[in-house]
Amino acid sequence: MAGPWQAVVQDAAAMREAAVCAVDAALLEGVLMRTEAEPNASDVVNYAPFTLLPSAVPRALFEQAYAVQQDFNLLVDAISQNKEFLERTLASTIKVDDFTARLFRIHKQVLEEGLAQSVFLGINRSDYMFDCGVDGTPALKQIEINTIAASFGGLTSRTVAVHGRVLKVLGKSKEASRLLPNNPSRGLASGIAKAWELYGSPSAVVMFLVEEVQRNIFDQRCVENELWNRDIRVIRKRFRDVFEKGSLDDAKRLYIDGQEVAVVYYREGYVPKNYDQQNWEARLLLERSRAVKCPDIATQLAGTKKVQQELSRPGTLERLLPGRAEAVARIRATFAGLYSLDVGEEGDKIAATAIADPDRFVLKPQREGGGNNLYGEELRQVLEKIKDTPERTSYILMDKIKPQPAKNYLLRAHSPLQVSECISELGIFGVYVRQGKEMVMNEAAGHLLRTKAIEHADGGVAAGVAVLDTPFLV
Ligand code: ADP
Ligand code: MG
Repeated sequence: MAGPWQAVVQDAAAMREAAVCAVDAALLEGVLMRTEAEPNASDVVNYAPFTLLPSAVPRALFEQAYAVQQDFNLLVDAISQNKEFLERTLASTIKVDDFTARLFRIHKQVLEEGLAQSVFLGINRSDYMFDCGVDGTPALKQIEINTIAASFGGLTSRTVAVHGRVLKVLGKSKEASRLLPNNPSRGLASGIAKAWELYGSPSAVVMFLVEEVQRNIFDQRCVENELWNRDIRVIRKRFRDVFEKGSLDDAKRLYIDGQEVAVVYYREGYVPKNYDQQNWEARLLLERSRAVKCPDIATQLAGTKKVQQELSRPGTLERLLPGRAEAVARIRATFAGLYSLDVGEEGDKIAATAIADPDRFVLKPQREGGGNNLYGEELRQVLEKIKDTPERTSYILMDKIKPQPAKNYLLRAHSPLQVSECISELGIFGVYVRQGKEMVMNEAAGHLLRTKAIEHADGGVAAGVAVLDTPFLV
């Protein structure tokens, strides 16, 4: 993919002029973030980082990613209900990874007590890169699936207008008209609204569980607004508020500040630093309640890297999705090579291979949010150190995806304008609702394209590495 903008990207004057328009368009359209200096106030805000030009995405791979999303929804949901699979898969990990172990303990406790929740809501985002094969043909390869707090479904709907304006300024109106409309937050909200309705208490509220530091509030507000538009009341609370003011009644209905909560939508709770002892207690209270958790703790565990690795073993998908051979084939086609580092011969062999050829792999711990994976020389050193210890089982190995870079400009507040060699990651949002055994909603809700300079091996938008983008299908 040399990119459709090869000529114009070289024209520094045109790029400078377009960048000025782009930033103002982003502010007007609401591509916003709070500042690092004042992350909890909206007095001064800035634009969220984004690319100057939309990036080329092969149409066939884009369509493939949409076509497999309902399958991934079914798969995540099936895993979350499969106690034995989760227990077996995470057994080695929870011996060495305290965070996963604590989540797992809550999962077990809630199951032993008996689930009070009968309506289930999943919102996930399956992320892909376009791997460039030896013959140069790109292939869709899944990076991971995020089953908790998948973000940017709000802001991404607003980059289309910004990139449309940029293309027009550059004299490319025809190309501007080809940009696809995209509104994940509406789809996310329709899932939340469905779960709220099935919960069946019209006076109950939807609670967004939010972090202490809330820079990305505007992204969340997009989903929130869609709910207010449907006359569904939304409250924003932190774990700390739940600890102080949350309670369950005899039927395990969840109350906070005297208000009944129908749906808990987590935009928090996915990394160890989100938890102190009080927050763990708050999490347990929420999980024990009847309220619809998005996600429940089993679904969060279904999104771990260890589960992802086990799914790639021959026969696993077939056992999780019996009678769905076509779905299994669509899912498997997106898998890159994934390898267990469990203690034993298989793990010894792949560890040795990775130490000998680290650039072929990525070493991943059970963490979310970017910046945790290891690459290249660092991968080799860490693996060398832990290869004969049980600690290595807290990681998985994955084949490194190698996309074809394209030139673009990454617009970031207070940063000079300069051209970068970039690669992109496409995410598809999935939404589903299950009542008891019956799936009542299963949809692909929209997409997110994030782009970063190739010198960064790791990291998302929140981590300050990737920026928002819009796909231009080629
Ligand atoms: P996180 O949960 O921290 O987001 P990811 O698995 O998504 O973990 O990895 C973070 C980033 O690292 C991705 O956004 C991508 O840029 C890069 N990355 C992850 N896996 C691979 C891979 N197999 N090949 C190339 N880059 C990868
Ligand atoms: Mg990721």
